Amino acid sequence: MTPIRLASRLEGIRPTIFTEMSALAMRTGSVNLGQGFPDRDGPPGVIAEAVRALQHGANQYAPGPGVPSLRQAIARHQQRHYGIELDPDQHVVVTTGCTEGIAAALLGLVDAGDEVVVLEPYYDSYVAMIQMAGGVRRPVTLRAPDFRLDVAALRAAVTPRTRFILLNSPHNPTGTVLGRDELQAVADVAVEHDLVVITDEVYEHLTFDGTEHVPLAGLPGMWERTLTLSSAGKSYSFTGWKVGWATGPAELVGAVLAAKQWMTFTSGSPLQPAVALALDEEPDFPRDLARDLEVRRDLLLRGLADAGITAYVPEGTYFASASVRDLGWSDGLAFCLALPERAGVVAIPTQVFYDDQTDADGGRHLVRFAFCKDREVIEDGVTRLAKADLSA
Ligand code: GLN
Repeated sequence: MTPIRLASRLEGIRPTIFTEMSALAMRTGSVNLGQGFPDRDGPPGVIAEAVRALQHGANQYAPGPGVPSLRQAIARHQQRHYGIELDPDQHVVVTTGCTEGIAAALLGLVDAGDEVVVLEPYYDSYVAMIQMAGGVRRPVTLRAPDFRLDVAALRAAVTPRTRFILLNSPHNPTGTVLGRDELQAVADVAVEHDLVVITDEVYEHLTFDGTEHVPLAGLPGMWERTLTLSSAGKSYSFTGWKVGWATGPAELVGAVLAAKQWMTFTSGSPLQPAVALALDEEPDFPRDLARDLEVRRDLLLRGLADAGITAYVPEGTYFASASVRDLGWSDGLAFCLALPERAGVVAIPTQVFYDDQTDADGGRHLVRFAFCKDREVIEDGVTRLAKADLSA
């Protein structure tokens, strides 16, 4: 028999680093400061609502675009936080997490050869899905130490074949929250070159030190060309529920639904009413979570500093990037692979989120630590790091 091989659309795509590093943490009994999932679940009342829905018949297919109560709650959420008015029947579709939103958006919109400008370091699913859609990625690198958007680099990345910008703010893994000036620059480029922007805003509520998240869709001239993606996973600490949503003009949301219906068809019926309840009745949960995360961020940063690791202060998300150069390492992947044995800690090598993984000026020396874990877990992690010999 002819040997089975992976379809070319997946060629060169490595297995997701998050699965790999969580398995490494399990295998070695390490403190997992790698994959971003919280140790503590979201509001008990929201879980109770999911249980109630399970016990009261929400166990068959949900409507394709999502249950009306959730679509209405999402519309209210966008109105309340950002003053964006949505028609829940036309401008909202529920997805199986933001990851499916990204997949459906790219499969529903990108044609073979279309170029997609994407911030680098990028979330790994962006690369896989741009390739599966037949698109070509054009990275724009956010560089240490401040990881700001280089507008000249953004402009330089646009060619006559560019059709999309895939944005992410608050940005995983750097923690950058794009400011109004940076967003305006993105908007200017998008309007000038007639581009559609797909924007992943799953960390929209997890910002620190008074930093404000501004949705690109609210900028003048951007509504009609912006598809906004978010989810309940990060805001409400239900990453395993996989309830996300796409909002925007009917044509863009329709493209998501057009692709989504052939992938998952519909998403978790009993979880949707529970997320609707979360959005409507637990509106303060995400802000309180952010305040608590800010304390845990500082705990992590202090601990890393004590262990001789220079970390950059994130404005948002629940990740902090750090350079391992001061410890004598030029390769963050080698560092992360040695870390379980050296210290009993797992972190994510940022270099796998770059096109050029050898670029010393890019992300080769960066690693990402998650601080969505319990304080004791973070303390345990940094104590282990401080005790260990981390030199190259
Ligand atoms: N978004 C999370 C992270 O960046 C994990 C997502 C995943 O495991 N696919 O760590």
